[in-house]
Amino acid sequence: MFPDFDYAGRIDRVKEVMTARGLDALLLSVGADLPYFTGYEAMPLERLTMLVVPAGGPVTLVVPRLEAPRVTDRGAFAIRAWEETEDPVAIVAGLIGGAGRVALGDTTWSTFLLALQGALPEARFEDASPLTRELRIRKSSDEIAYLREAAAATDRVVSRLGDVRFSGMTEKALAGLVKEMTIEEGHDTAEFASVGSGPNAASPHHEPTDRDIERGDVVVIDFGGRRRGYCSDTTRTFSVGEPEPEVAEAYAVLESAQREARRTVAPGVAAAAVDAAARSVIDAAGHGDRFIHRTGHGIGLEVHEHPYLVEGNDDPLEAGMTFSVEPGIYVADHWGLRIEDIVACTAAGVDELNDSDRRLRVVG
Ligand code: ZN
Ligand code: ZN
Ligand code: ZN
Repeated sequence: MFPDFDYAGRIDRVKEVMTARGLDALLLSVGADLPYFTGYEAMPLERLTMLVVPAGGPVTLVVPRLEAPRVTDRGAFAIRAWEETEDPVAIVAGLIGGAGRVALGDTTWSTFLLALQGALPEARFEDASPLTRELRIRKSSDEIAYLREAAAATDRVVSRLGDVRFSGMTEKALAGLVKEMTIEEGHDTAEFASVGSGPNAASPHHEPTDRDIERGDVVVIDFGGRRRGYCSDTTRTFSVGEPEPEVAEAYAVLESAQREARRTVAPGVAAAAVDAAARSVIDAAGHGDRFIHRTGHGIGLEVHEHPYLVEGNDDPLEAGMTFSVEPGIYVADHWGLRIEDIVACTAAGVDELNDSDRRLRVVG
């Protein structure tokens, strides 16, 4: 499923950063860090899968015997398949015996951390994310190409949705259709489709219900999936019949806020400045208290990852970072509006990976 990247090169690079930071070992299990370094995703089950990276030694993937056939051996690490009667924690401990500072994948199950702490009483465990983020936050051109293909597939779904008759469908049925189209347009999985109609559109992460979509509704559709391991995530807003003037006015504000935020993207600009660009337009129009979430999140192997475009994050954007730009305006119990695109920051400024029609689309 994952592309044939230079995994050995990534492992070499993380070892360099580990050495510079005084870390003795890196342990990765469930989550996106493991596929970043191996092209293999651990099954989130009770049998331990763990990549063991000693700063100065050979790298081993410890994997249950019955799952070992799923691993593509690209020569970047040794594979140690463990039998049902073996203790995988003892195997991991044996591979990093004597380690002092150990970085552990953030989403490793606590049951394994507790067992590792018992097996390695001298070790001090810390979150791996400050280390792995150093590599993952800037995407290579190959990674951006995969994200662009996933985004283009969701753009094709959006354009097909313009021809769908929404009225008479339930939110659930429309969400099902969106997921079907997401697969048809070339995703491996359709991970989510939030369809919020009428008052439900005011809830940004609305779970689709049996509500019948009717004329006069504003419908927010936020959906995405994964293609070759890389995520898509886009939002478009539709109006079933002509929108009320109040909605059309607010939408015009949102469109210019989202455009301003995209235009702000450039290397050296603080992540918070992109949020501020969107927020100042919405504030100036008097909708400030109706924009109730941050402007965006990084995207890659995970749908939400660093960097976060939020007030207080003054870290500068860098070329290779990929993230969403998704301001919204919500009036509780009445309506909601959001526009979401994935963009990449490049040396030349913003590179728009999503480029479907951003206008408020009127549907039947
Ligand atoms: Zn979201
Ligand atoms: Zn989204
Ligand atoms: Zn998003």
